[in-house]
Amino acid sequence: MKTWKSHALPQLPGVMPAIHLHETTAQRVVLLPETEPASLYVCGITPYDATHMGHAATYVAFDLLNRAWRDQDRTVNYVQNVTDIDDPLLERAIRDGVDWQELAIAQTELFHADMEALNVLAPEHYIGAVESISWIVPEVEKLIAAGLAYPVVGSEGEPDGDIYFSVEAASSAAKVSGPDAPWWLGQISGLTQEEMVPIFAERGGDPLRAGKRHPLDALLWRVARDGEPSWEGASLGEGRPGWHIECTVIAQRFLPKPFTVQGGGSDLVFPHHEMGAGHAFALEDTTMARHYTHTGMVGLDGEKMSKSRGNLVLVSKLRAAGVEPAAIRLAILAHHYRSDWFWTQELLDDSEYRLERWRKARHVAPEGSAKPLLSELRSALSQDLDAPRAVAAIDAWATASLTAALAASINVPVAVVDGVPEQVSARDSDLVSDAVEALLGIEL
Ligand code: ZN
Repeated sequence: MKTWKSHALPQLPGVMPAIHLHETTAQRVVLLPETEPASLYVCGITPYDATHMGHAATYVAFDLLNRAWRDQDRTVNYVQNVTDIDDPLLERAIRDGVDWQELAIAQTELFHADMEALNVLAPEHYIGAVESISWIVPEVEKLIAAGLAYPVVGSEGEPDGDIYFSVEAASSAAKVSGPDAPWWLGQISGLTQEEMVPIFAERGGDPLRAGKRHPLDALLWRVARDGEPSWEGASLGEGRPGWHIECTVIAQRFLPKPFTVQGGGSDLVFPHHEMGAGHAFALEDTTMARHYTHTGMVGLDGEKMSKSRGNLVLVSKLRAAGVEPAAIRLAILAHHYRSDWFWTQELLDDSEYRLERWRKARHVAPEGSAKPLLSELRSALSQDLDAPRAVAAIDAWATASLTAALAASINVPVAVVDGVPEQVSARDSDLVSDAVEALLGIEL
């Protein structure tokens, strides 16, 4: 599928130091592998309610990782999917009385426009669920043949033949040692099965579905129902894929096995990433990703942001109201990616003011001020993508630059740094501007 356009990435002198990132499974910050080409899979949207602030914050967070890797002169292979067929999309289309395909196309286009405006680097491969169906079908057949998936007999108005992933069979198969660590249910989330069941039910799972071998078995293939779109499924029969297998098959097709980092919001830890990892192990005897990293949730004015509350803050609406996308991005960067935070008008006002101040300072960058700032930005971002520390460093540089300029304009002797009188420098101006753009994605 077509993706969006990336802005040009300025080249900076020197390189980013070794990158450390919080890993959900280990529950600590770890050093990312340095020798292999970097590979990243960030779970994409289901195309409705695009692009709310929670989406935007997630894609901006992993954009920082993408930029940090590129600043190390690494090759990055970034893959993202779009779940352009699934129950929530169909439910929304029915609710709004629109065609599901038209909804998916329009919302995917809106998402791309928002990503481009927010200066998020585009993935190398942007893949839709629908276009992956012919790749998914043989993988589900493989799982059935291995005894790791099974069809459910229909009941209570449901037809025969929906295929489920057997978490127990896959867990016991994983006890056979593979080239990498085996998989077990709870490996990524650390949840007990008792804790998993209600979360599974909340997030699209069906623990009470009759005929399943285990309440946590996840849907791989949903056979055709009247009034629902369906596709050719070979021995599975007509139908459509489940969500977790979609991401696993796309990631395994376009990325190494395992790849470096899988990312998403913290609501994807379980069941989505847990099940995706289980599918990957069951199919290829390999861990899906070396590391799993998750972003915090974004609320509005002290409340949880959700479609049911109708309080979603949409990037496109802010843009239509004339808000500069860089100010939206800067408001996101003012928070650490792992924290939960709230969107407020005051936050946006502060970001607009901050951006204006940075731009003023850029014109009066003192000679010699850019390199120490670049080094501080790299240091902050290499330590678990610490954007707030990077933002604070630019604030401090802006204060020093504006103070020096003010002092010069009123003929007060200019401050002396390392014995050299500060002077406005076009070279430093350009380097600050390139650094802030390349590392934080903010255009000054
Ligand atoms: Zn996914």
